[in-house]
Amino acid sequence: MKTELLQFNDADLITAGKYIRDGKLVAFPTETVYGLGANAYDSEAVRSTYTAKGRPSDNPLIVHIWHKEQIYGVAREVNDDAVKIVNSLMPASLTVVLPKKDVISDAITAGLDTVAIRMPKSVQAREFLRYAEVPVTAPSANLSGRPSPTNWQRVYDDLNGKISAILCGDPCQVGIESTVLDLSGKDPLILRPGVVTADMIEAVLHKSVRVVTNPKEKVNSPGVRYKHYAPKVDMVLDVSGDMEKLSRYYDGLIASGRNPVLLVEKPQLFGSRNAVCIGQTDDEVARNLFENLRILEGKFDYIIASYTSTTPFAKSVLNRLVRSAGNNLI
Ligand code: AMP
Ligand code: MG
Repeated sequence: MKTELLQFNDADLITAGKYIRDGKLVAFPTETVYGLGANAYDSEAVRSTYTAKGRPSDNPLIVHIWHKEQIYGVAREVNDDAVKIVNSLMPASLTVVLPKKDVISDAITAGLDTVAIRMPKSVQAREFLRYAEVPVTAPSANLSGRPSPTNWQRVYDDLNGKISAILCGDPCQVGIESTVLDLSGKDPLILRPGVVTADMIEAVLHKSVRVVTNPKEKVNSPGVRYKHYAPKVDMVLDVSGDMEKLSRYYDGLIASGRNPVLLVEKPQLFGSRNAVCIGQTDDEVARNLFENLRILEGKFDYIIASYTSTTPFAKSVLNRLVRSAGNNLI
């Protein structure tokens, strides 16, 4: 299959929308990461998303909408908490999980009775979704397990020849995936942390919101158990920022013939060692994280990452770093 590169003009948006309605796969930009879109009302199209990505079939997909009213075409019940979230926070890098309507197939929900719904903040994403006319399922547009794509070129690297088109928009501004908030149970629960943090949700709901921190905890979000975001080379993570410890680790790898790189907050402290800045602020760390991993895996054979920030958003970023490093903390 030839993968067409489409641009953000009227003619190409019309084509992208038609492709979706015809059951084809179209990758598109959002503010979090690039998504791989399919018509949510076409289970054949939805199923082909799993094949293109090599995604385990028990990992459900998020349904994307451009208009708040579309939520009623997807969710069976929009409870009071959901109404508050929709009115106060959406559009946002926030996904809500609600009881699903019958029209939402098992191919989307992996057999769950709930559906994950998001209205992206990105204007380009909502523009595309408007042309699609139907709700659009979209996982991240990468090969399963790899760092998520935050620009269209990375989608091309992973999925060229496997999908009909890529809508080539802007690089992603947030850089990590949406917060997943489960509102289908008795208490609100964050299944996946993101840029919309628990305190922001608590301020709207006026009740406490629990964040699932232990990936082994049995929750109805299969996606959190899989290997994720991993570069092709070895990676470890440090959260102390201890320069001497990091230098020793690096020097040990050099002595054993490896070609390591430090991905750290202050590369200038590491003298002649290979060191790259992970970002000056939490926002910058998140925005560049997956792209940094993809660049560094091409030049080095070992990534030593260090990140010490402890803000609420930093915890979400750390969640991705820990998983990229396959839980290898030093
Ligand atoms: P991705 O599309 O790769 O960003 O992953 C989507 C995330 O949303 C995964 O962590 C899924 O487990 C989660 N998700 C999707 N649908 C549901 C659902 N119905 N209930 C709980 N989590 C969901
Ligand atoms: Mg993903």
